[in-house]
Amino acid sequence: MNFSDLGLSDKVLAAVVQAGYTQPTPIQEQAIPHAVNGRDVIGIAQTGTGKTAGFVLPMMTLLEKGRARARMPRTLILEPTRELAAQVEENFIKYGINQKLTVALLIGGVSFDEQDKKLARGVDVLIATPGRLLDHFERGKLLLNGVEILVIDEADRMLDMGFIPDIERICKLITKKHQTLFFSATMPPEIQRLTENFLTDPVKIEVSKPATTANTVAQRLIASGHEAHDKRAVLRDLIVGAEDLKNAIVFCNRKKDVAILYRSLEKHGFNAGALHGDMDQRARMATLDAFKKGVLTVLVASDVAARGLDIPDVSHVFNYDVPIHAEDYVHRIGRTGRAGRFGTAITIVTSDDLRYLSTIEKLIGEDITWLSDKPVADPDRRRRGKPTRAREGGEERVPRMASSTSAPRSRRPARAAELGAEGDEARSPRAAAEPRAPRAPRPAAEPRAPRP
Ligand code: AMP
Repeated sequence: MNFSDLGLSDKVLAAVVQAGYTQPTPIQEQAIPHAVNGRDVIGIAQTGTGKTAGFVLPMMTLLEKGRARARMPRTLILEPTRELAAQVEENFIKYGINQKLTVALLIGGVSFDEQDKKLARGVDVLIATPGRLLDHFERGKLLLNGVEILVIDEADRMLDMGFIPDIERICKLITKKHQTLFFSATMPPEIQRLTENFLTDPVKIEVSKPATTANTVAQRLIASGHEAHDKRAVLRDLIVGAEDLKNAIVFCNRKKDVAILYRSLEKHGFNAGALHGDMDQRARMATLDAFKKGVLTVLVASDVAARGLDIPDVSHVFNYDVPIHAEDYVHRIGRTGRAGRFGTAITIVTSDDLRYLSTIEKLIGEDITWLSDKPVADPDRRRRGKPTRAREGGEERVPRMASSTSAPRSRRPARAAELGAEGDEARSPRAAAEPRAPRAPRPAAEPRAPRP
């Protein structure tokens, strides 16, 4: 099937050609014809499937008729994180070259005034994180009863971050009859219920993962001692020793560790940046941009900050910590080996991590190859009590300069990462330190502004 068979407008088709796409992806092929016909759609798909264009292209086609009124956006796209919201905005810019649509981004970490001015002029497309959207609504700066199309993207991620009550509230605020396009990688019961309550006779589309990670990602494990300085030394050796390392994302379970590890890598001469939920929006975007452009070689990140980001060409993923939730492992290693390229994912494992590792291996249905001997489980260690986390910020036991790294040191735009680095990703149980932490009402990524 071609893009021209999907019912898209000529202007949108021209933009698709200019973007260089020749064939629609399965989710686009199945979702776009229904979306341009005004049907509600449930798309079970994850990032990497082309789902963003799957809703952006039909929206642009439908928006060609009509115009925006002040404070009454015509369409609303809800995203769980600022980065994903910014990524969707980029899609509107890319495909919107032949149209004059006004797009506004309502995300935390950016001044209300600027956003407010845009809203006052009238917007065709409003892309927002739920918290910031409700803040604007409560300030009386926004009316939602003009929304013709509502997109709820990454719904299962919204669930993880405690956003479902906000989503329900927003759905109820859109009183006008509207079309809903709903995307989620999985359909847990809470998400299922949401679709039953707020969608009308939806078409359900399910696409499998773009390519199984096993095909394009070489997965490896390496043992480490328990102490943070042990793990940091292992990581440095991995980075320096990697033959074909172009760039790497290093995942930590806690944002506190993101900041510590980032500073340690910098101190050792690596060209590193950090990405976690406490950074202000400008610093996050600058870091991401620098990484995408190759200015930064190593990006230390938390799951919350990095999930769903579209960085097409990452050669290596290092798991500094074994993720507590097995699905996070799949998401993390999925950052590499994208778009038909090959990637390497190496996980640093201490004996305490072995139980999490076995859950991961069960989930992916294979045993991952060890680069070293497997650490020996020490049941007595747990009984004795693990060492305190306070040691983690301490000095390296064996400081080594990584002068052999191929990455030149350069100016880093992400000094802001060092600010506010304390605390865990409090609002995201998946990224939190303790397994099965209670679901918190709101993720740290989107603090609500004080009421006026
Ligand atoms: P997404 O799943 O929306 O995050 O998209 C993943 C990547 O696929 C993005 O880099 C898109 O630019 C790209 N993409 C989207 N649609 C197509 C297509 N039809 N052909 C090739 N690449 C695409």
